[in-house]
Amino acid sequence: MSPDGVVRTVLGDIRASALGTTLIHEHLYMDCSDLAAAHGYVPDPDPGAFDVAAAAECRWNPGAHPDNYRFTEHDPVLADLMDYRDLGGGAIVDATPFDLARNPEALARLSRESGLHVIMGTGYYLEATHRAFLPSGDEEHATYDAIVSDHRDGATGTAGIRPGMIGEIGTSDPPTAAELRVVRGAARASLDTGLPLSIHLHPWGDNADRVLSVVAETGLPIETVLLNHMTTAVGEDERLRLLLQTGVHLSFDLFGFDHSLLSPGRWPPSDDQGVATIAALQAEGFGSQIMMSQDVGVRTRLRQYGGWGYGHMLRHLVPLLGTHGVSSAGIRQLFVDNPAAFLTLHR
Ligand SMILES: [Zn+2]
Repeated sequence: MSPDGVVRTVLGDIRASALGTTLIHEHLYMDCSDLAAAHGYVPDPDPGAFDVAAAAECRWNPGAHPDNYRFTEHDPVLADLMDYRDLGGGAIVDATPFDLARNPEALARLSRESGLHVIMGTGYYLEATHRAFLPSGDEEHATYDAIVSDHRDGATGTAGIRPGMIGEIGTSDPPTAAELRVVRGAARASLDTGLPLSIHLHPWGDNADRVLSVVAETGLPIETVLLNHMTTAVGEDERLRLLLQTGVHLSFDLFGFDHSLLSPGRWPPSDDQGVATIAALQAEGFGSQIMMSQDVGVRTRLRQYGGWGYGHMLRHLVPLLGTHGVSSAGIRQLFVDNPAAFLTLHR
């Protein structure tokens, strides 16, 4: 990997050094309606308008209104992207896979209108959502073919909009056999396309070793892989250290989740606890493997509905890192150097 290699955005290839501050795991357009049932929600046939009261209820109970999972509006997302850019943001990764309604044209428009570099993901999510797209039993080859075609020819129906990352590839707790076949296909596609690989782990599972062993079997270097949603492992410092010793990148990407996650009663650690853990791991020498993001992907996360938007990281958390002793060089490592290294195409 060259020191200033190439990163692929929805508007074309750029030098990695041109990315600037980057959020490594977000969503700009996504429809998770199909996950509501998997998260245990029964659809309300007459939910009413998604107003302030509905948004407030969804902060406690994310699936209480079906529109919360329909993260498909242009204007409130653009407004929050502009806010992030005005605070110094340079780039943002949309980690939405095919089966959560990835929308390349929407991403290209948001990139043009916001002035941000946008990196698009590719691949498949959990079995609950990829079942409708992949042949049962042959998920590995179908995933490999879909990613390689997306990479080679550009997204179907577009004028050549190409992904810059594989992921987020979905795994449940425990990962299903079909999901591990998707992981294997995605890892093989990463080897052959040079696209970096980002993998969703169930936030309340402990499946990193199982998933990484499948990746390793393909020959893909673990150092090119990013494991998502590690925020929920904050407080389990020894587990985090053991993972980091494998060389893998960890994404602490649930900052700003002040609400229940994946069903009532499951709460991520506070932002302050997350920042303290990252400051400690960086001080121990693991700084080059750690990234921070917010995983904005439901409406309540947007400022229009009472959330903090994509700007939360720069407005609130970067100063918080400072109070935990992280230097400006350390902040640059987390938000500029590490995303640039991870997103650099391997070939
Ligand atoms: Zn995820």
